[in-house]
Amino acid sequence: MQCRDVVLWDVAPTRGVHTCLTVVVSDDSVDGEFRRTEPPADTIICVDCGGTAHLITPPPEDGAWYVGDITAYRCGDCRDRWDLVLE
Ligand SMILES: [Zn+2]
Repeated sequence: MQCRDVVLWDVAPTRGVHTCLTVVVSDDSVDGEFRRTEPPADTIICVDCGGTAHLITPPPEDGAWYVGDITAYRCGDCRDRWDLVLE
């Protein structure tokens, strides 16, 4: 175990804070676990009927989306549900 300075992403990029976390250095790196990604689109086109599917997953409290987050859409026309994994 070793203490390293890391930068934590905050809601606003300008408020990135330095903090000291205890991390296991010998791991295979946790890169990817907490990679930020773009917020999902509010709507997508339904693959089945071509209608508009609306995002039904509420945004995270801190507004931060991460790779691997699952978002769900519901088509307003055929009521199909679509689950997308953010990447
Ligand atoms: Zn549809």
